[in-house]
Amino acid sequence: MSADWVNLAYIVASILFVLGIKMLGSADTARRGNRLSACGMLLAIVVTLLDSGLSYGWIAGGLILGGSIGAFAARRVQMTAMPEMVALFNGFGGLASLLVGSVEFIKLSGNGSLVSWAFEVPQSFTLSVIALAVFIGGITFTGSLLAYGKLSGVTASRAVLLPGQRYFNAGLLALLVVAALGLVVGSVLGLSVSWVWIAFGVLLTGALLLGVLAVLPIGGGDMPVVIALLNSCSGLAAAAAGFVILNNVLIVAGCLVGCSGLILTIIMCKAMNRSLANVLFSGFGSADQGAATGVEGEMKAASTEDAYYVLEAASSVVIIPGYGMAVAQAQHAVKELTDILEAKGCEVRYAIHPVAGRMPGHMNVLLAEADVPYEQLAEMDSVNPIMPTVDVAIVIGANDVVNPAALNDPASPIYGMPIIRAHEAKTVFALKRGQGAGFSGLLNELYFLEKTRMLYGDAKTTVSELVGQFKS
Ligand code: NDP
Repeated sequence: MSADWVNLAYIVASILFVLGIKMLGSADTARRGNRLSACGMLLAIVVTLLDSGLSYGWIAGGLILGGSIGAFAARRVQMTAMPEMVALFNGFGGLASLLVGSVEFIKLSGNGSLVSWAFEVPQSFTLSVIALAVFIGGITFTGSLLAYGKLSGVTASRAVLLPGQRYFNAGLLALLVVAALGLVVGSVLGLSVSWVWIAFGVLLTGALLLGVLAVLPIGGGDMPVVIALLNSCSGLAAAAAGFVILNNVLIVAGCLVGCSGLILTIIMCKAMNRSLANVLFSGFGSADQGAATGVEGEMKAASTEDAYYVLEAASSVVIIPGYGMAVAQAQHAVKELTDILEAKGCEVRYAIHPVAGRMPGHMNVLLAEADVPYEQLAEMDSVNPIMPTVDVAIVIGANDVVNPAALNDPASPIYGMPIIRAHEAKTVFALKRGQGAGFSGLLNELYFLEKTRMLYGDAKTTVSELVGQFKS
């Protein structure tokens, strides 16, 4: 296949990626968008495979093995375990770029032999992208594995900050920059090939070590943000690998992943009203953080029967789902309750906070799974103005995203985070198992308000009981 045709196919594939990503912006078109991007990737792969000089045996083996593991894992994964899976995928993306960079380095340096010297000055560009692929790929690989470990419980999820670790990390980063420079300009400076190999070795092992040390001081709860950032890194590493092997579609795809991951990271930080530096370096969400603020009063429990009578009379209800709904897998029961309320003429809306749950779009995914119509979902900014007119707010396993301390307690760690103003509704029902805190570890004054009643228990059981009350 001529280079022109290959590049034309790559342009078509890139357009499909961009269109697919655009369609992911709405729940109605997301599935089609995903398929469109997948078609783009298939086209890119087929065209690349038609290139001559490839070892098809190895490629087929890799495709069968990797494809089977990927398909098996994707079918088995629980929705709540999705961030862990994405972490693993990012990590292996980083590893792939690291391997591409390393293999090209070995080729350039005379097939791995320390005696022959194959570098030439014009190869400095290739060497600099090799350095980038190895550096970013290495950090992404080990950082993502640790993020996976923290999220899945394989390793302790709390933030671990060793004495002097920040200085050590900064020193290590400086060493890696020096090693990368040695690699890139070694041939220009006339360094012997063994010195350039040492620089490469330092870069490789240092990047792998830095990935672990950078993620270690971040609490498990912040891992989704870290994963979005590592996702961006895996894209940048892939783009660097694309420059190494001069593959245009890999450069485009890598840049798309790099940018979208970064945008997602920024969106998540903004929705939590925290800077990226705060997420990366403060140890927020660690076990020893998040002392409760001085909320006084009593949390008043109600029965599902009491709640039934109030809901019977309500003409507008806003449901605010949170992480607890995901844990309880209550979405189908919640949809059933919604249908019953609507059938009796009540207006029902779901208020979705951008960081409710533990991954971006967590609530949207769960509610889409239960066939909740997209039109019923309201974003925080559109629902907040009408909250004072709402008869009942049902808070289902949400805590931080409805904590009024974010609005009125400057001493609170979550002060400034935008919230859904459940406390402005006429009546609030809060469904949770007990006195458990949210992700930030704070008590929530919403539960202590006069207008709030607690419906204790697993959210799915409680909602099912409510449905039962209506049916009987
Ligand atoms: P929270 O983590 O604040 O609160 C969840 C609540 O659910 C807990 O208080 C818990 O109380 C309750 N719960 C747990 N299991 C159940 C169950 N089976 N049935 C009923 N209730 C249950 O969740 P929110 O969604 O309100 O907030 C998300 C938090 O996560 C925010 O602080 C956000 O910044 C953070 N975050 C979100 C990310 C994202 O991408 N979405 C990424 C990183 C962080 P109890 O134990 O008493 O039942």
